[in-house]
Amino acid sequence: MRLELTDAQETFRGSVREFAQTRVAPRAAAIDAENRFPHDLVREAGARGLMGVTIPTADGGGGRDYVSYALAVEEIARASATLAVILAVNNSLVAELVAAFGQPHQRAAWLRRLATGDALGAFALSEPDAGTDAGQQRTTAVREGNGYRITGRKVWVANAEAADVMVVFAATTPDIGGRGVSAFLVPADADGVRAGGVVDSLGVRGLGCRPITLDEVHVGEDARVGPEGDGFRIALWALDGGRVAIAAQALGIGQAAFHVALAHAQRRHTFGRPIGRYQGVQWMLADMATELEAARMLTYRAAAAKDTQERCTTEAAMAKVYASEAAHRAADRAMQIFAAEGYRRGSTAERLVRDVRATEIYQGTSEVQRMVIAASEIAQVQP
Ligand SMILES: Cc1cc2nc3c(=O)[nH]c(=O)nc-3n(C[C@H](O)[C@H](O)[C@H](O)COP(=O)(O)OP(=O)(O)OC[C@H]3O[C@@H](n4cnc5c(N)ncnc54)[C@H](O)[C@@H]3O)c2cc1C
Repeated sequence: MRLELTDAQETFRGSVREFAQTRVAPRAAAIDAENRFPHDLVREAGARGLMGVTIPTADGGGGRDYVSYALAVEEIARASATLAVILAVNNSLVAELVAAFGQPHQRAAWLRRLATGDALGAFALSEPDAGTDAGQQRTTAVREGNGYRITGRKVWVANAEAADVMVVFAATTPDIGGRGVSAFLVPADADGVRAGGVVDSLGVRGLGCRPITLDEVHVGEDARVGPEGDGFRIALWALDGGRVAIAAQALGIGQAAFHVALAHAQRRHTFGRPIGRYQGVQWMLADMATELEAARMLTYRAAAAKDTQERCTTEAAMAKVYASEAAHRAADRAMQIFAAEGYRRGSTAERLVRDVRATEIYQGTSEVQRMVIAASEIAQVQP
């Protein structure tokens, strides 16, 4: 069993780390404080091949493996959790979905643009009454001539502020749950699409999260992705990759928490010694390091499974639930090590505590991940 990264993966991680630490990290506090979408950094990430990391080079992407993509998300998240999730949505939930299920004209229209950062994608699945139970779509797509009329409301659409195209899920056969849902590529400026105000979220601020209203939006049949009724299956496929990315995002946030806490433990003195000399603080750091390493193994394993297996649903769910909860504990311990300084609004520890919490909620809550794991063959108790 080999657990090392390849030379190509190491080199790629180094180049992303350099971008993240020099260009992104200095901006993270302001992105959070102003809740402002970082348009320029998203463009720069596109120019560096980070908007379509696994998309084939022939389609304008980086042509890299999923482990490399996870490394990229982790490095960006160490600098800014917000930019990491902007990239994760575009990569996993839109570009990869179009690459895997898009018709040739959809790939021609959008894939290169999405992969190079020339266009930004959003994923509109959640509704006011359909979050965890996303199969119960109230948004409908009613057949009309040679197309559809889409009407409904979507909430918490990340990237909505700057998106050029959205994957919109809607019921083509209402009242039968997930089997009646279809997916559509809808330009963000289509007639009848209206975005509400930016959500004033606790963390991952600057994500451009808005509610979207679709008011009799006309799309042609050629806007549908995959066959009618396959939309929910397609969403779940995309979420497998998305959950690997959120695990990597959590890992990056946790790593940032460990890094700032360790530095503080070496710097801050009480009773004439650095607090890092006390066992009470050392054990917190030891637990952070150990749990983050376990999260890293699960995350990279899930990423490798995405490359080599037809589905990585269970591996992705295990990585997401463990990494997000380990990173939550790491951010919480970092705040404890900083104590009052960590509890100050605007401190790094405070931002990390707020940012990490979202990783246990979006792309399926921790409860959903546990449901997925419990239903899988891997979790079946052996006699
Ligand atoms: C910052 C942010 C960005 C987001 N971005 C997007 C996006 O880009 N696109 C998008 O479509 N959505 C997005 N979402 C929405 C997100 O995916 C949903 O919030 C999430 O799926 C949970 O749905 P909900 O909030 O409606 O919770 P609910 O479904 O109302 O669940 C409430 C609670 O009940 C629990 N629960 C529900 N059912 C069960 C069950 N059967 N067993 C045990 N527990 C259960 C849940 O785990 C949760 O704890 C985003 C959310 C956030 C916070």
